[in-house]
Amino acid sequence: MKNSVVDAIGNTPLIRLKRASEETGCEIFGKAEFMNPGQSVKDRAGLFIIRDAEKRGLLKPGGVIVEGTAGNTGIGLTVVAKALGYRTVIVIPETQSQEKKDALRVLGAELIEVPAVPYKNPNNYVKVSGRLAAQLAKSEPNGAIWANQFDNAANREGHVRTTAAEIWEQTGGKIDGFVSAVGTGGTLAGVAEGLRGKSKDVKVALADPMGAALFSYYTAGELKSEGTSITEGIGQGRITANLDGFAPDFSFQIPDDEALPIVFDLVQEEGLCLGGSTGINIAGAIRLARELGPGHRIVTILCDYGTRYQSKLFNPSFLREKGLPVPEWMDRSPEIHV
Ligand code: PMP
Repeated sequence: MKNSVVDAIGNTPLIRLKRASEETGCEIFGKAEFMNPGQSVKDRAGLFIIRDAEKRGLLKPGGVIVEGTAGNTGIGLTVVAKALGYRTVIVIPETQSQEKKDALRVLGAELIEVPAVPYKNPNNYVKVSGRLAAQLAKSEPNGAIWANQFDNAANREGHVRTTAAEIWEQTGGKIDGFVSAVGTGGTLAGVAEGLRGKSKDVKVALADPMGAALFSYYTAGELKSEGTSITEGIGQGRITANLDGFAPDFSFQIPDDEALPIVFDLVQEEGLCLGGSTGINIAGAIRLARELGPGHRIVTILCDYGTRYQSKLFNPSFLREKGLPVPEWMDRSPEIHV
């Protein structure tokens, strides 16, 4: 029994990924973060950021939480905020999926859509949210805070204390590798810190989408990006505070045409309907399995639920427009007629 939705965050199961395991001769498991109340890995960050702000005395009853987010952090923060009596003001780039924006509105977030511009532009969504928080801190009767997920260490701490601890416990310490993509870096750096604290033998890998700059940073020491990706919520261009002091053992750059077929096969063959970043993660897990060789156990993150991307990832016209492969079943009409 749970006292509130807040207590239903975390303790997600590890699910064996059949095809990835069979193809590599390794045991590949996904941590089912889509089973959190806000349906993503970011509920944990939302919870830890809010609890940390409360502990520091920054967040007052009825206060406002402001954040710039690709959507999932906004959803996580809003779920927790509603349960604890806070308001959320969410700044989102207009390019993010309609389903995430709809979810935020349904949950009662006050949503502000802004044009998608690079981080160095003062009108980038993260910077707009920071300025808005400073403004609302003065004008709101109960004050306001900026969640600042990218550079707020409470995000990473949430993954050290919960995600990594759960993975260690669930595997009984029998784990050889962990792989994840990076949005803020909270998941990758936090789980790495937690697992490496338990065993020096766990290999940690970055799975970077095209268009991100971390692969080149960790392999050549230079933040440089090439290409693009339709995945959302991942693809970092700078070393955030959450990534501070972190270094992976392996780095992989994963193109969309390697990641998306994995997502499509998972729905049809394993009943797992997941978002694009999960495809990047599983492609990374397969690459790590090939590096380590058969017989190893690798864990990755199943970041969020796929219906959040119905209009993009699971839409044949959108995929064709982007020049991406469309699975045959997606175009097929029903074979049974009544
Ligand atoms: N996948 C999705 C769908 C996300 O929204 C995020 C967070 N933005 C991530 C992966 C990456 O998580 P993190 O911020 O912990 O790096």
